[in-house]
Amino acid sequence: MDKPDLKYDDLVVGSGISGMTMALLLAKSGRKVLLIEKQSAIGGCMRRFKCKGIPFDTGFHFTGGFGGLLSDMLRALGMEQDVRPEFLDDPKTNRIYLENSDSMYEMPSGMDAAGRALKKYFPGEDEAIDQYLQTEEDIERRTPFMDLKKLNTEELFDLMRQLDEDFIPLQQYLDSITADTRLQTVLANVALCYGSPPSVMPLSMHCRAAVGMHKSMARVAVGGDAFINSFKRQAKELNIDIMTGTEISGIAKRSGKTISAVTLSGGATCHFGNCILAIHPRSIISILPEDAVPEATRQAVEKYEESFSFFSLFATIQTERPVSPALTSYLTRDNLNEIISPDSVACAMAILTGVESVGNDKVSVLCAFENEFPGEADRWENAVCRKNDASYQQYKARRADAMVKKIEKVYPEYAGKINVLSTSSTLTFEDYLPPTGSAYGIVHKVGEQNLFGRLPVRNFYAVGQSSLIPGVLGAMLSSFIVGRYLLGRNFITF
Ligand SMILES: Cc1cc2nc3c(=O)[nH]c(=O)nc-3n(C[C@H](O)[C@H](O)[C@H](O)COP(=O)(O)OP(=O)(O)OC[C@H]3O[C@@H](n4cnc5c(N)ncnc54)[C@H](O)[C@@H]3O)c2cc1C
Repeated sequence: MDKPDLKYDDLVVGSGISGMTMALLLAKSGRKVLLIEKQSAIGGCMRRFKCKGIPFDTGFHFTGGFGGLLSDMLRALGMEQDVRPEFLDDPKTNRIYLENSDSMYEMPSGMDAAGRALKKYFPGEDEAIDQYLQTEEDIERRTPFMDLKKLNTEELFDLMRQLDEDFIPLQQYLDSITADTRLQTVLANVALCYGSPPSVMPLSMHCRAAVGMHKSMARVAVGGDAFINSFKRQAKELNIDIMTGTEISGIAKRSGKTISAVTLSGGATCHFGNCILAIHPRSIISILPEDAVPEATRQAVEKYEESFSFFSLFATIQTERPVSPALTSYLTRDNLNEIISPDSVACAMAILTGVESVGNDKVSVLCAFENEFPGEADRWENAVCRKNDASYQQYKARRADAMVKKIEKVYPEYAGKINVLSTSSTLTFEDYLPPTGSAYGIVHKVGEQNLFGRLPVRNFYAVGQSSLIPGVLGAMLSSFIVGRYLLGRNFITF
């Protein structure tokens, strides 16, 4: 039987935080929206999974921006009540450990407090520390799209104007303010939250990603589910249609540079005014008709490098009292360029603790993520059943043991109390984060044009973590900017 034709104002492809944000913004201004998702469930990196009934986050774990840009966006989306921060204010709950110098840095929230703490750790570096923190705030202030109110008032061109710092690599800037590689590493540690080495990351982008985290760091109660559940509730109220297990399989109607209908993998034809692609740039290019994409754009996308992926460990901690939400970044070297290099043995691990409710019980949980490049576990890619492959399981057990040893080094109070429930390699990421399994999409580079906003097909747009600023905040912001483009001024109210 023929599938009926579907008709929407807007088709949003990909249901990560950028797709959910886009769908809400459009539907809130009265448009009829269809959101399609390739996987069997919505959420992308915001998804959680349960092991022995205990929920664990897979992607999103912590963020900056509460009390600032993130709170503004959550308010505009009607999510503010549902997404509740658990601040990592106490310096003991936000730490950076450098293994090669056996040094631990406890980082308080707030620019002034962070500055004071850093000056104690790095005597004689006051000027560099002040300069760095001022640069973060200065770039935030000079970036119009980081102020939601300006989205409604400024011309689009002014909103997106470039800064000189867009053309300066972060490493060049760090070298200009200090020769102390430990200080450089502590200042730029946020690079581990976007996976682009300081040698190529634009200073502006780095500061946009870092400033919110230096002002306040927070985990979110019930993690990614807080965003997904809030979205689902509102999607019902706003009549957003959602189709999971669905992707675009072909172009159904095209007139010159405009495509007004596509075929969906379930067989239906979907007609729309706009199509917003909240997916990886490589997937975007594979959807657009070959003749519509200029060769230069195609080549630029082919050249994009992938950020790293993770080997992940999910555990409970057997403690008498529930643990505090906390983050420790464990770096084996004080050199972020080496850590974020596929050829290096240096690596970094994020260790997160928190408490989850399971029925009436509170369970202390620990997740740890060690950077690993897509490809490192490739020898098992074609294993018939990875679960039953002894060498793959040995590899995972070996890595998990090594990670637990490191965790016990920086959390001696948990020694012997960590009960590993599950581990995952880059192969798992490749399965659940199509098409490449990288944690943060592409590496952001000085001089490289990201695929963002209007695409070569006139009514198609790109948003997502690879387009503007990496991380949840940046992915959401990319959708706000394209929302402003599509809906004109005054599309959001506070
Ligand atoms: C392990 C890990 C830890 C992280 N930690 C943090 C953190 O603590 N803080 C932070 O801010 N950020 C973190 N991030 C990054 C953050 O989660 C991402 O930047 C952000 O969630 C990306 O959102 P997105 O919507 O752009 O993409 P995604 O979440 O990747 O969503 C894309 C969606 O599109 C779907 N899709 C792909 N191709 C197609 C297709 N052809 N058709 C239909 N659907 C398709 C995918 O299945 C997916 O659901 C982490 C990421 C990972 C992996």
